[in-house]
Order: sequence, then C-alpha cells, then structure tokens
Amino acid sequence: MSDYNPQPPPTNESSFHKGNCHCGAVRFTVRVSPPLHEYPVMNCNCSICSRNSYLLVYPNTEDFKLEKGEGVLKDYRFNTRQGRHRFCGECGSSCFVQLPDESGPPPFVCVNVRMFEDFDFDKLKLRKVDGRSFQGEYTPQVNN
Ligand SMILES: [Zn+2]
Repeated sequence: MSDYNPQPPPTNESSFHKGNCHCGAVRFTVRVSPPLHEYPVMNCNCSICSRNSYLLVYPNTEDFKLEKGEGVLKDYRFNTRQGRHRFCGECGSSCFVQLPDESGPPPFVCVNVRMFEDFDFDKLKLRKVDGRSFQGEYTPQVNN
C-alpha cells in the first residue's frame, strides 16, 4: 500500500468544494489540484467502487477537512481491511475512504465526488479503471 499513489500530478490551479452526505449529518470541505473539471476522476468497476458508486479524487490529507459528522460516520472494511470506507450512519451515503495511518498520517484521502455540492457528472473527466480484473474474485462475505 505504501507504494500506491493514485494522485495525478498537481498543477498551479486547484478547486475548492463543499461536500455532504444525503442527510447533511456529514459535511466536509476539500481542495483538489488539478481543478475538478480537469482532474482524472477515478471511475472503477471493482466490487466496492461499483456498489458504492464511487467517483474518487485523492486530495492531500491537509486539503481535506471533515467539518461535521465524525460521530455518525461508520466504517466498512473488507479484504485486507486496510481502508476505512466511511459512510453516514444516518443516510448511508458513501463519503470517503481513509487509509491506515500507523506510521503517521497517510498522504491523501479518497473522496467521493458524488458528495460534492457542485457535482455535475457530465463535466467530469473520468479515468476508467478496470479494477474488477485485478482485484481478484469477489464473493460477498455475509452468509445469512
Ligand atoms: Zn447522512
């Protein structure tokens, strides 16, 4: 995981966004570079991205601020259990993913653009990733 860096090279420009879950219990602000409509937004077909409808950007940790909702956020972990897939415990919106920080804060947060106030799917520059092919076979883990 330490060698994994999905961030695109930053440019001289950035864009600032407010985001919130559907019910508003979770609110955050984020700055991304390149600006959102030039940013290669990750659109992956793996088991978790497709189910959570993730469209991900990877701001630096210091450019992401959770303004509200730490108390209502719930974590979903699977597979290696390294990533915390954080969703609103009230409305279920999949907000962002945090990576482990045992050796200090991770350099970036994976944030779901679908939570942005100014989200416009048609303006995004999507980077399609075929995660389904390299993720390995997927089977749901709950048997009841
Ligand atoms: Zn919510």
